[in-house]
Amino acid sequence: MDLNDVFQRIDDYSQQMYDTLMDVCRIRALAPENEGDGELEKAEFLMNVLKDSGFENARIVKAPDSRVTCGFRPNVIGVLKGSRPELGTIWSVAHIDVVPPGDLGLWNSEPYEPVETDEKIIGRGVEDNTQSLIASLFAARAVNDSGIGHEYNIGLAFVADEEVGSKYGIKYLVENTDIFHREKDLIVVPDSGNPESDFVEVSEKSILWLKVTTTGKQCHASSPERGNNAYRAAMKFLLKADEYLHERYGLRDPLFDPPISTFEPTKKLANVGNVNTIPGEDVSYFDMRILPDYDPDAILVDMEEIAREVEGEAGVTINFEKENYDRAAPPTPPDAPVVKKLISAIKKVYDNEPKPGGIGGGTCAAIFRRAGFNAVVWSTIDEQAHAPNEYIYKKNLINDSKVFAALYTE
Ligand SMILES: [Zn+2]
Repeated sequence: MDLNDVFQRIDDYSQQMYDTLMDVCRIRALAPENEGDGELEKAEFLMNVLKDSGFENARIVKAPDSRVTCGFRPNVIGVLKGSRPELGTIWSVAHIDVVPPGDLGLWNSEPYEPVETDEKIIGRGVEDNTQSLIASLFAARAVNDSGIGHEYNIGLAFVADEEVGSKYGIKYLVENTDIFHREKDLIVVPDSGNPESDFVEVSEKSILWLKVTTTGKQCHASSPERGNNAYRAAMKFLLKADEYLHERYGLRDPLFDPPISTFEPTKKLANVGNVNTIPGEDVSYFDMRILPDYDPDAILVDMEEIAREVEGEAGVTINFEKENYDRAAPPTPPDAPVVKKLISAIKKVYDNEPKPGGIGGGTCAAIFRRAGFNAVVWSTIDEQAHAPNEYIYKKNLINDSKVFAALYTE
């Protein structure tokens, strides 16, 4: 019995995997924020598939939520015990909720009635996040049915509420249960990736979007001495801040592409409606993506200081509002066991050289990392999440399943 036998089993399961993925797609699972009634029907369907796959102890962990009919948001948890359970559990954490289809006019088919072609399956949620869910589930089934044996426990967590913030999903499980073990468990969140399957996300930048409102005094353009040009002062501030931040926070981190923090003045609101008026107010925005080495609060302090200087020079007032602020979680070390094992498993299936790296921000692996877990993000997809006509390649579903099988049995 070797890994190729397990791979053969996954090939044999392939039509069943497509069919199950399409069954899952047909069951809507929308958050109450999206006019949905939660994920219970899909969770119950998955409980049955898990039980058929050897997860006899599969259970639903309920996160109370009075906005849905059943009164809770379901998180489906299944564990197959390994031969050395003291090593810990290799988790695949996939979410079962989906986003609404959006403008139906952009779809060429019914979003919740999946279409299967020779190469693809099309439907809402097939990529985000059902491909990875089915891939890890059938990998576990293949490993279990083959009798090849596995040292680590195999854990599947099919969670609720990822699309609207994870309060009733991953956050609930991390904060209110002891399902995940900090020291031992390896956590894969297969909810982002690229078509080449060569990227394992271990780190992210902080995101800070700043709205900058500069207030002077409006007047006629022919007599500027009667007012105070807010637009000119805002330009001074933006340029000063831009230059200062790039110089002061210029560290390079090769994990990231680009390898630097980015500080970009972006949006600007329209000011006065005519050419001969000096604007009394200017509203501009900064988009900042900050390497995890830096504290975004320190950057804000620096910007405040520059603002006070410009206020003194120009006689205006400058105010900040945070439009979006998401502090980077501590990175998972690129040499952590979960990273090394996953990369080794990917290489057994895809002919590539996967690299650990960082992204601009915002995956739910950050919830695990903030809570002290090592977690990675990987999958093989065309990045269709939330798009109309969302699709997956069937071959990616099968190959990703083989990667999970290799990971489980390493
Ligand atoms: Zn997702």
